[in-house]
Formats: sequence, C-alpha cells, structure tokens
Amino acid sequence: MSALTLSNVTKSFGKTEVIAGVDLNVEPGEFCVFVGPSGCGKSTLLRMIAGLEDVTSGDVTIGGNRVNDVAPAKREIAMVFQSYALYPHLTVRDNMGLALKQAGASKAEISGATEKASGMLGLQPLLERRPAELSGGQRQRVAIGRAIVRRPKLFLFDEPLSNLDAALRVATRIEIARLHRELGATMIYVTHDQVEAMTLADKIVVLRAGRVEQVGRPMDLYNDPANTFVAGFIGSPQ
Ligand code: ADP
Ligand code: MG
Repeated sequence: MSALTLSNVTKSFGKTEVIAGVDLNVEPGEFCVFVGPSGCGKSTLLRMIAGLEDVTSGDVTIGGNRVNDVAPAKREIAMVFQSYALYPHLTVRDNMGLALKQAGASKAEISGATEKASGMLGLQPLLERRPAELSGGQRQRVAIGRAIVRRPKLFLFDEPLSNLDAALRVATRIEIARLHRELGATMIYVTHDQVEAMTLADKIVVLRAGRVEQVGRPMDLYNDPANTFVAGFIGSPQ
C-alpha cells in the first residue's frame, strides 16, 4: 500500500482554483520533493496532506485512510514549517515534549523520546533554553526534533531551510538526509530550490500553477525533462 495517495485533488479559494487536479503516489520510506515556483500551490498541497486545509474535491489518503476521517491526534504526521512555529514561553525540552504530553504519554515516555530526539540532533545542551535564546539554525533543529519525538510515519517539510544562511542550509540539509536514512519514514519536502530537490529526493514532483508537470527520479528529470518548464527548473542546459 502507498504511504500517501492523492486522487484528483483540487482546491479553490473562492472562484480561484489553485490546485487543479493532482494525482500522486508516494511509497513508504520515500523522500518525495515538491518543487515549483512561488505561488504554484506547494504549501496548499502540503496543508491538505496534513489535513490542515480541506480539499475542494478529490481524496488525500494516508496509509489507506482518508486524512479527514482520522482524528488530528491520531494522524501520524508531523509538519516542519519555514517559520519554526515554536512556543516562545516553553523551553526546548517542553516544546519537544508537548505533543506527547497532549496525547497523554507518561513523563518517562516523554523524557525518553525527548532525550533520544535531542541526541539525534545534538540538542542536549539547549534543552533548558527558550526559543528567544537560540539562533535560527538551532530553532529549526528544535522544530525538526519536535517532529521526530512523535515518531510520525509521515514528515511534511515546508521550505524548512529558507530562513537559514547558506552554510546552515547545507548543514541542515545533510542532517535531514541523515534523519531520513535513520528513521526510514516517508518524507514530503517542499522547496523552490533545485539543489535541495536534486540532492534530497528519491522522487521529484514538479508543480506549475496547481498542476503536476512531471514526476520522476532526479536524474531522469534532469536528463529527460518533459518540457521546457521542467528543463528550466531542473533539467540540464539545452
Ligand atoms: P507556494 O507554497 O507554492 O508558494 P501557495 O500554496 O502558498 O504557493 O499558494 C498558491 C496560491 O494560492 C497562491 O496564488 C496564493 O495566493 C493562493 N492562496 C494560498 N492560500 C490562500 C488563502 N488562504 N486564501 C486565498 N488564496 C490563497
Ligand atoms: Mg509555500
């Protein structure tokens, strides 16, 4: 069974259709990158996968269940945003443990999972700090750690590196690739950056104006782009 299936998914805001019939299968453990220019609908698609936004028509199915049929607390999904979205009044430890606490986990479970995730990301020295006492790169590592703590089957990343400087972008990208190998989870990763797409993806989905232009492995898109748009975005120079 696919980890994620989109069947003829559309989304309109008022009369404006921003997602115009998207079909997609993502396999368990796959690293799938959505790439496309600003405004093409990447975040909207991701938010529908997360169940944060209703589809106008079509179905989003995760592990065989329609996302909106599963209670939010039971959806094994974690999302990492460009803006980190940490709680300013909570320490790193409490930010990371909050979702488990809300799900009713015991103190021992929460501290075990928090220690493990912070070990994977080198966050132990920061556990008692608050977000205001962290750099941008550290905040994003906490946001990623918070996602890992819940041990989701599906990770959704929405341009997680765009607020970081160039050196941190590379370091964090490498860290995300390592986490994908270690966790074996399915990951959907949105970016408008070709290099991120080419280096991280098992499968790239090229979006343009709410439609899928092409889906394929990075080198297949690079060597054999379906059209000039895909070529301009990731293809080899013609
Ligand atoms: P991307 O993430 O690829 O930059 P978005 O998914 O954010 O694109 O947006 C796709 C289109 O949908 C844009 O034209 C945007 O203005 C529009 N849009 C997104 N969210 C809303 C909303 N809540 N209300 C109206 N229009 C929206
Ligand atoms: Mg976006």
